[in-house]
Amino acid sequence: MVMGPLAAEFRRRVFPTATDAEWHDWKWQLRNRVRDLDRLERAFSLSPDERETVRALGDRLPVGLTPYYASLIDPDDPMDPIRRTMVPVADEFTHEPSEAEDPLNEDADMPVPGLVHRYPDRVLFLVTSFCAVYCRYCTRSRLVGKTGEYHFNTKQFERALAYIEATPEIRDVLISGGDPLTMMDDKIDWLLGRLRAIPHIEFVRIGSKIPCVLPQRITPELCRTLRRHQAWVSVHFMHPNELTPEVSQSCGRLADHGIPLGSQTVLTRDVNDDPETMKRLMHGLLKNRVRPYYIYQCDPIPGSRHFRTPVETGLRIIEALRGHTTGYAVPQFVIDAPGGGGKIPLSPEYVVGRDGDDVIIRNFEGQTFRYPDPLPVAAGV
Ligand SMILES: *Cc1c(COP(=O)(O)O)cnc(C)c1O
Repeated sequence: MVMGPLAAEFRRRVFPTATDAEWHDWKWQLRNRVRDLDRLERAFSLSPDERETVRALGDRLPVGLTPYYASLIDPDDPMDPIRRTMVPVADEFTHEPSEAEDPLNEDADMPVPGLVHRYPDRVLFLVTSFCAVYCRYCTRSRLVGKTGEYHFNTKQFERALAYIEATPEIRDVLISGGDPLTMMDDKIDWLLGRLRAIPHIEFVRIGSKIPCVLPQRITPELCRTLRRHQAWVSVHFMHPNELTPEVSQSCGRLADHGIPLGSQTVLTRDVNDDPETMKRLMHGLLKNRVRPYYIYQCDPIPGSRHFRTPVETGLRIIEALRGHTTGYAVPQFVIDAPGGGGKIPLSPEYVVGRDGDDVIIRNFEGQTFRYPDPLPVAAGV
């Protein structure tokens, strides 16, 4: 695997004694995460804002980057897109009245701790609070990385599994957290096996950023486990800079094992909020056999103001994709409604209006068309 010049320089500067075997070992990557000020100072030329913010973080969402992911960041540019998502700035301390710790009100939709049952036929199963990296805009910053790096205990798993077993309406389980793929293979195997043994469970998927931030974790053994249980994987991607040869290998390996891959992207200011960047990301994902699934409006967690974009930005991005490029490259833009309303899809409007028996529609180039669509004849006329 050929490293990019930034990454090779990073490794020489921050981990000069690491062997190739260590660098390519996912457990070494996790053990050696960039987490404290000392490491951060060696990794990047921190701005005074970044330095002060890391000092003042206290018990808020911790900082954490795998050495691999940190190596993709320009050490001299505080506006580097990946850096903005990982290294905190003082804007995080600005809280707006409209922001909330649990903006999606997930805690209210938990019949048992860690299991969110909001939609009729599917549940969100939070299986760990540990992540390989901590995204500053995280919807679940209230619970991830906070309680030490522990994984949920067996009793909690059993209660959630008992609820799923006793609720035949549930046919779909989304496993998330935290990042489920940070768990050991045998734990993942056990959990998927238990879910697959429930007759009414038809569909199991894992939400993870691991293929992107810790591609070394996607071993052939893990792929075989996921294949055995016919799991799908939704991968969190933010920016085309993430699409390295390592990521091509991790996604390619999953795809070669027949594991369908989708993507989820959070729309964030100065990271990916322009159509050109998003198009490059979506094209890169397709090249890696990842089908773009969702673009999320950034949720209003405390201190997220500097990340948030007007809803029109998302609509403009979708409009710039639809028709202009492969349909498979166009994800659905959604807002997860505050208070627990669920995901609401937003789309540019292509219906211009109606003129008698015609609807007037427009195409991606702005041309309008009449489409014959006679209203039903009223009964008895
Ligand atoms: C996103 C989500 C799901 C899955 O929704 P899909 O639209 O099927 O991807 C399920 N439960 C909760 C609580 C969610 O937030």
